[in-house]
Amino acid sequence: MSWTEERIDKLKKLWGSGKTAAEIAEELGDVTRNAVIGKANRLGLSTKSAPAAQKPKKKVIPSHRACQWPIGHPGEANFHFCGDEAVPSKPYCLKHCNMAYQSKDNS
Ligand SMILES: [Zn+2]
Repeated sequence: MSWTEERIDKLKKLWGSGKTAAEIAEELGDVTRNAVIGKANRLGLSTKSAPAAQKPKKKVIPSHRACQWPIGHPGEANFHFCGDEAVPSKPYCLKHCNMAYQSKDNS
């Protein structure tokens, strides 16, 4: 098969849309994944979106642990957890730590 202008256009579009070379090869038909990568390289398309260059996304580690203090009542539509930055080694933020541990600490 040959790279007609139409196919090259399509390759560029698909490549730009972030599809993998394998997906592009399938869309174009009658072409291998390697041929797609080779053609893309020759066209000077960004290799950033090439599958080989893709790295698994890093897990986003929250910079802080969220306060687990429940706001409202479970089952209510607006029930949620506080979500403020929790005190290290505590499940709640400072405010809710004070509420949670007040009676215990004062006894
Ligand atoms: Zn809180």
